[in-house]
Amino acid sequence: MFPEVNFELPGWVEEFVGDPDRVYPTEEDRMRLAVELSRMNVENGTGGPFGAAIFDLETKRLVAPGVNLVTTAGCSIAHAEMVAIMFAQRAVGSFDLGAPGEPPRELVASTEPCAMCFGATPWSGVRRLVCGARDEDARAIGFDEGPKLPDWESALEERGIEVSRDVLRGEAASVLRFYAESGGAIYNSREG
Ligand SMILES: [Zn+2]
Repeated sequence: MFPEVNFELPGWVEEFVGDPDRVYPTEEDRMRLAVELSRMNVENGTGGPFGAAIFDLETKRLVAPGVNLVTTAGCSIAHAEMVAIMFAQRAVGSFDLGAPGEPPRELVASTEPCAMCFGATPWSGVRRLVCGARDEDARAIGFDEGPKLPDWESALEERGIEVSRDVLRGEAASVLRFYAESGGAIYNSREG
């Protein structure tokens, strides 16, 4: 009666990410991948201007990439961070990326998380969140971040999740502007 729901990463992602054994030593290296995923997502017309990735902080290798699939999957929850979390949990074989005995893992998001992705972060089990563009950069092109806590960063830190902001912010924000200038669809949470 009800159809199956499946998510697939766009075909270009696997080739773009390349060598699965590649090491990303610094948070800038890891953010560069998320930002380039966001740019490629716009260039390929496969979704909104947002990229994300989850990394293993012991090996510094990619666990899973994510790109925004909202418009192409017809799904409001398919933000880049949610997609990366789903693919990472499938890759690891657990709903908890921070289960006992697991290496610490990091979520890298080309733009700071919205209310939904902020909420999903502690549930995912990641121990670290790295953000590129700020939410005001997203608002500047017409997106909004939903009803997020004003002090969302401290709320995550209180749950043992380290937050690093403004990593390659300028590059990440330039992808947002590129998307808006190219006439990309802007969608939002309902205004309160
Ligand atoms: Zn989101």
